[in-house]
This record gives sequence, C-alpha cells and structure tokens, in this order.
Amino acid sequence: MNVKNKGFATRQIHAGKTENSAGALCAPIYQTSTFAFSSVEQGGARFAGAEQGYIYSRLGNPTTNLAEAKLAVLEGGEDALAAASGMGAISTALWSSVAAGDEIIADETLYGCTYSLLEHGLSRFGVRTVFTDLSDIENLKKALSEKTRVVYFETPCNPTMKVLDIALIAKTAHDFHPGIRVMVDNTFCTPYLQQPLALGADTVVHSATKYLNGHGDVIAGVIVGDKEFINRCRTFGLKDLTGAVLSPFDAFLLARGLKTLDIRMERHCANARKLAEFFEAHPAVSKVCYPGLASFEGHEIAARQMRLPGGMISLELNADRAATAAALNKLELCTVAVSLGDAETLVEHPATMTHSTYSAGELKAAGISEGLVRISVGLEDPEDIIADFKAVLDPLA
Ligand SMILES: *Cc1c(COP(=O)(O)O)cnc(C)c1O
Repeated sequence: MNVKNKGFATRQIHAGKTENSAGALCAPIYQTSTFAFSSVEQGGARFAGAEQGYIYSRLGNPTTNLAEAKLAVLEGGEDALAAASGMGAISTALWSSVAAGDEIIADETLYGCTYSLLEHGLSRFGVRTVFTDLSDIENLKKALSEKTRVVYFETPCNPTMKVLDIALIAKTAHDFHPGIRVMVDNTFCTPYLQQPLALGADTVVHSATKYLNGHGDVIAGVIVGDKEFINRCRTFGLKDLTGAVLSPFDAFLLARGLKTLDIRMERHCANARKLAEFFEAHPAVSKVCYPGLASFEGHEIAARQMRLPGGMISLELNADRAATAAALNKLELCTVAVSLGDAETLVEHPATMTHSTYSAGELKAAGISEGLVRISVGLEDPEDIIADFKAVLDPLA
C-alpha cells in the first residue's frame, strides 16, 4: 500500500513496511553483515547495479531501509539514508557536498560538534566555512560567493533557540545560484513540527538519537533529500568516506520509536509551554527562550514555519555560574544530562557541556552566556516537572 498521501500518524506507522516470510507484524531485525548470492553471476549483477538486491550491510540492509523509508516519507523527501549518529549523517552529507577550495556558509550558532567539524575539521582539507548570523538575511547575501556550495543551519538553533527563516534563506541562496545546497539540521523539530524541504531546503539532516528515536537508547542519524544526492551519500559518502553505518538493531529501535512520534511531540510541546510560562513568571529567571512565548524574538517566524513551538527551552537565572550549577545539582526529578528528546526531562549547561568546543569569544558571538541553561522537557506530568524546578528556584528569588 502506498501511504505517501495518508496522514502523518498513518505514515509514521505504516511507511516502509515490507513482507516477511513469517508474516511478522513487526519487521524482523536482519542482524547480518552480508547477503548470499545465488550465483557468481548474480553477485556480479548486483555490484554492477543491473539487479536490485542486498550485497553487504554497509551498502544497505532491510531493517535500516525500513527506518530510512519512514523518514523519507515523513520529511517529504525522495529518499533517506540512515547513519550511525547525527554526526555520522552530518559529516557524510557535508563530505559528499564539498571539495578543496569550496566554501560553506553556516549560521554561527550550531551544535558544538558540527561547529568543530566545520571550523577544525573540514578546514584542514581546504574547505572554508564562513560563520555568520543568518537571522539577518543581508549577512547571507554578503557571504555568498562563487565558491559557496552549502548553506548550513539549525532552527531553532542549539542552544539559544534562535529561529531562522528557512524559506527566506533557501530562496536567497537559490536566487544567487540554484546549485547551492541548503542543508537544515531538523533535530529540534522533527518532521512533525517542521518540514524544511517543503519550505525550499534541499537536504535535511538529523540526530535521530533525539526525538526521532525518542527513548534515549540509540545513537543514530539520518540524511533526507533528493534521490541523486542520497544515492551519492549512500554509494560514496557513507560507503567510502565516513563508513558511519547504522546497525540493524539500532535501525529497528529507531523505526519502533518513530511509530509514536506525533503523540510524543504533542506531549513534549504541551509540557514545554506550561514550563516556559512558569519560568517567565518566576522572579529567579531573568530570560526565557521558547518559541511559543509571545515575548520571544523568533516567535513570529516560528509560528509560521513550525506546527508547535517544540519541547526545548533555554533560560538564564538571576545567578552567577556557580549558583546556577548549585541549583541544577539540587533537581530531583529532572536529570542533569546532555542529549534531548527523551521521555525524561534533561537539563544541561551548554557553556561547560555541549558547547565546550567554543572558545569564550565564540560563545559570546553565538549568544551562549555563562548562565544559559538548556532544558529538554520530557513526557512526565507537567505539574511534577514544574514542582521540581520551583523547589530549586524559589530560594534564589
Ligand atoms: C545531538 C545533536 C547532533 C549530533 O547528533 P549525534 O547523534 O549525537 O551524533 C547534531 N545536531 C543537533 C542539533 C543535535 O542536538
């Protein structure tokens, strides 16, 4: 059955299903490295691309294909490629897009390891990245050049929640040159909240470790886009350049998590809104960054391009770094941990954790203050999450 035109919930459950010999409702885990050919000639035909079929799990595996098919359909892309981590997906997609002498334009606020890949990794191989604030479109116009191959950004940005206008950035880049690849890290939103391809982006990358899997038990990534690019990533980028292949077992867990994506996102967003409103009214909190608050700068663009404002909140306390850390250490229900998108509410301090690859000056430029706290709002009862924060914030007020 073709589920492409069905609703989101139907697609997340049924997309990618194939028959299996036992009639199992849930797809089997094809825990195998290689696949048997009926003859030398058949093996030859598969390598030559003359016959469809599996060869070796670094080149493709039925369980991995299930997760890929779901994500392609959910993001509205022609095809998708799973990777062993978000960084595996991002590095595969970028390595497959550039060569020495090329340039990438990236927003200056990025996931810490993506920043490091661009600034300290690709730069060693003759690929220069121009970091700029893409919330001012004039900055993009100034940075575009003959050498630009990729425009790369997240929205909302990690960890400041800065919201970028996907349609405007994509149009501006494509007006300059239609061949520029506009690549969006959609980890914070998932396709349930935001679909960058429909807004004009060419490629979507994800850390599937986060909301897509949703249960905190897998490291995974995915690239979604047009057939030609995904094929290049599959047959060259992932196969030869990075080798960052997702294991069949993790692909199974990812496909399993995807079946409940929409209802999890609804709850994450509902809980986050309640918590953001609590923080906004609390005297110990000096600033709340949440796209769902009318007071937040990116509120208007977020309302236009996101179905709901997401499950991530950043805030600053009326306290120095030490007092902020002491308050977080006293939380009982919420866990001090990096990562996001899990059932558990997770709290982290970007300047000392996820963004420790940034220097003090770079932190400042990216708007990441010493006191910034990032919260991934979980699926617990919202009253209990609020009570946990209230107990540690009240003494600071
Ligand atoms: C976690 C994360 C990544 C990296 O993903 P891994 O699965 O940890 O490799 C990239 N981008 C964003 C926005 C993330 O939150």
